[in-house]
Amino acid sequence: MDLQFSSSLLENAVTELSRLPGVGRKTALRLALHLLRQEESTSEKLGESIIKLRKEIRYCSVCHNISETEICPICASPARDSKVVCVVENINDVMIFERTGQYRGLYHVLNGLISPMDGIGPDQLEIASLVSRIKNNDIEEVILALSATMEGDTTNYYIYRLLGQTGVKITQLARGVAIGNEIEYTDEVTLGRSLVNRTLFADSFKR
Ligand SMILES: [Zn+2]
Repeated sequence: MDLQFSSSLLENAVTELSRLPGVGRKTALRLALHLLRQEESTSEKLGESIIKLRKEIRYCSVCHNISETEICPICASPARDSKVVCVVENINDVMIFERTGQYRGLYHVLNGLISPMDGIGPDQLEIASLVSRIKNNDIEEVILALSATMEGDTTNYYIYRLLGQTGVKITQLARGVAIGNEIEYTDEVTLGRSLVNRTLFADSFKR
């Protein structure tokens, strides 16, 4: 045990908290000490919600978004345009596009991007399920809404090649999203405009 902690229980809590993204050991210690100062029920509620989150959450069998039911509320909604599917990298991006208030279609969450450097190939992503979804449903347009990074471009092109024969219209975000920018760090107004002004993916080779 590191003597500065004077309790292995505190040290363990700090170690576990510091595994979270963006939380260093200093912040982890501050969080742990904060919890110690609160009512016991505060820690209990936090602990329970994390355990439940991990154990009970499900993923939509259609779009792979987080859901408490077999089909998520977006896929199940009759108010959404089921002929348009927006392909995004992760669940966070679904929430970001929903916040723009500019989109009425459905989503498809890939759960990552193709990245040979990190050993992530197409088979580890929800690409096969995207292809069968497009082939087996009446879908008119696929919007490629991935980050304008090398991994995003690689993944866009891979999907474009796979879906090329299906005849579905393939568009991508207008380049209001700056090159090299990740969706997560693009402001909502720019993102909303990029979605509305999306362009045909094939046109991006012609320039
Ligand atoms: Zn869904």
